[in-house]
Amino acid sequence: MVQKSLKLPIASITPITFQDFPDHIAAIIWFMGCNMRCSYCHNPDLVLGRYKRIPFAIVDDFLRTRRDLIQGVVISGGECTLAKDFLPFLQYLRQLGFKIKIDTNGSNPQIISTALEQGLIDFVALDFKAPEEKFIRLTKYDGFVAFIETLDAVSKSGINFELRTTIHSDLICENDLEEMLDILIKHNINSPLIVQDFKDAPNFGDLKSDTYDKKGWLLRRKGEFFFRGDN
Ligand code: SF4
Repeated sequence: MVQKSLKLPIASITPITFQDFPDHIAAIIWFMGCNMRCSYCHNPDLVLGRYKRIPFAIVDDFLRTRRDLIQGVVISGGECTLAKDFLPFLQYLRQLGFKIKIDTNGSNPQIISTALEQGLIDFVALDFKAPEEKFIRLTKYDGFVAFIETLDAVSKSGINFELRTTIHSDLICENDLEEMLDILIKHNINSPLIVQDFKDAPNFGDLKSDTYDKKGWLLRRKGEFFFRGDN
């Protein structure tokens, strides 16, 4: 049965992407709202819910007409797991036959675990914000323990996932990255940590562009980091 009345804080839809869901042609659904306030966040308007919400009927129409064109849907934000009807939305996407990728800050391990148990997620992109002692300062949210729980749930589920972090040298130093790698090793994670550079845009921390050469850090432990944009 198709659900027509899901309550979802959807701000926009990217109709097609070839690079945001590995091995899939997908659309991206952008959710408003987030429990974190990362200093480097480049989309405060999305986090603060300042866009007009797209009615679910329009999202439904869009997805039904794209079923032959796209294979998957990426749910991004913001933090999509906070939405009241997040799980029903995943079930609805499954009914339409889509593969599902979610982008998450890892603050909601219960919801992620439930979705994984129900076989509703095919790929997770999980943010690794910072080591424990810097987590709150960077995100303004006490979420390190929840992140670790999410990390364990995702890695034990057997689905494909990626871990990614954004760095600005005012916030994260080379020792922090080393510590983050050690945490991944401790949790038996073998995939590299994907490092995304700071995007110079209005942000919560009033950060300015970062000219520090971070690639030098990463090359020293090549294979353990992957700089987004590398081939
Ligand atoms: S960067 Fe931080 S504040 Fe921005 S959407 Fe992601 S988790 Fe939320």
